[in-house]
Amino acid sequence: MIKNKTLEIVDIDVKLLIDKLTTAFADEWMAAYQYWLGAKLARGPLRSEIAAELMVHYEEEISHATLLADRILQLGGDLRMFPHDWKRFGSCDYDAITNVQMLSVLQENLKGEQCAIAFYNDLLKMVQGKDFATQAIIMKILSDEIEHEQDIIQFLEDISA
Ligand code: FE
Ligand code: FE
Ligand code: MG
Repeated sequence: MIKNKTLEIVDIDVKLLIDKLTTAFADEWMAAYQYWLGAKLARGPLRSEIAAELMVHYEEEISHATLLADRILQLGGDLRMFPHDWKRFGSCDYDAITNVQMLSVLQENLKGEQCAIAFYNDLLKMVQGKDFATQAIIMKILSDEIEHEQDIIQFLEDISA
């Protein structure tokens, strides 16, 4: 058996950690899809400017999914799931876009970001000082989610002004 230092230095329950990272992985795919669809469908004020930023966020959510996937594999987890499992494994509610008005699309994005911020903040507390590799990934993702929230809040302020 080849020695695996990666796992040896993790000072928390690896199965629980993989479960949390899998939840986040599912949420990231839903967030990416929500942004991508919003960028295509949203109608209303500042449409081209906001749609361009929603596509940037889409790409950043995909990069979060990639960071999480790589860490899940390092920890010995399994990435295989069906898209219909995203909602089952995820923790942030995803609602289909029924109203394409910019205000409504942005409000859905804001809900998602605020759920993500709370989730990653809790996860960071769980791993801090116990798994530095995961900690670094979650800190990076959390700071991106905070940036996303602030962008969405600014757009909401701009279009309600
Ligand atoms: Fe994300
Ligand atoms: Fe985000
Ligand atoms: Mg942004």
